Amino acid sequence: MSPVLDYKKTTLSPFELKEQPSFAFKLYQQGCTNSWFPKEIALAQDKAEYDTKLSEMEKHYIKYMIGFFCTAESLVANNISYALYKHIDNPEYKLYLLRQAYEEANHSVTFLYIIDSLGLNRQEIFDMYKTVPEIGAKKDFEEKFTRDLMDKPEITPQELFKNLFGFYAIMEGLYFFSGFLIGLSFGRRQLLRGISSLFQYILRDETVHLGFGMQAMRQLLNDNPNLMTPELNAELRDLMMQAVELESNYASVAMPEGILGMNKNYYLQYCQYIADRRMSALKLDAIYKVSNPAPWLMTQTDLPELVSFFEVSSTNYESRA
Ligand code: MN
Ligand code: FE
Repeated sequence: MSPVLDYKKTTLSPFELKEQPSFAFKLYQQGCTNSWFPKEIALAQDKAEYDTKLSEMEKHYIKYMIGFFCTAESLVANNISYALYKHIDNPEYKLYLLRQAYEEANHSVTFLYIIDSLGLNRQEIFDMYKTVPEIGAKKDFEEKFTRDLMDKPEITPQELFKNLFGFYAIMEGLYFFSGFLIGLSFGRRQLLRGISSLFQYILRDETVHLGFGMQAMRQLLNDNPNLMTPELNAELRDLMMQAVELESNYASVAMPEGILGMNKNYYLQYCQYIADRRMSALKLDAIYKVSNPAPWLMTQTDLPELVSFFEVSSTNYESRA
């Protein structure tokens, strides 16, 4: 495989593929196989349930969840186009990033479709990063990873690793998966089943995104044996703890009272559990060492086709989300 960062950049294009396709090319194919379109799922029943069956607190949570996801999808797309695509030279990685960027666009359109179907106010939801400080704080935290890279002509492997950690381990790996916990809980209660199906499609995409990012970080570590210094290790641990703290603040306003049999502590424990999984997948020390409070979710997030995909493509890769 060609190095992830190649300063002697030539004219590599995504089409100069190796005879043995890398994991990134296989994930590109997996992404294409997973193609779906939001309007395949009708939401009329969801709208009726939203109007008649949901509590005010459940509606409040849905608004906050969608408010965060709308912003987050754009931040991920921006990070790909302004930071990663510019700095990564490996042609198969670039091919995968193009596919991922399209999927993030499809997710943005999906959230628009949900907003319109439920009769929510587009402007109000899209502006929540400005009106809700706890969403704005997560945005600022993530955006910094993009800004750190976008204006530089060249970056070090460590700088790239930090960006991947911020976006794949934290944004997609932690924030998205925490959001899925409650998003999928509605379907589990036989409520909003259309939206829940859309979440499952998004989750399937995000599982592949996460797989790409985690494997890319492992590859960077392999290519650069001196990359992981004690300083970087401490910094990553600190970033993950900051991220969990921001998520805890967000949960305090998104679900000030319990919903669907869950409360903030349950949610926070799930975040901590997921944070540790991301750390240990990168051979970093676990921070919280808590048990999974939502084992039912693992049957949905450990997608069988992906588990077997990663098992055959990489023996030591921790594929489970
Ligand atoms: Mn997405
Ligand atoms: Fe994604």
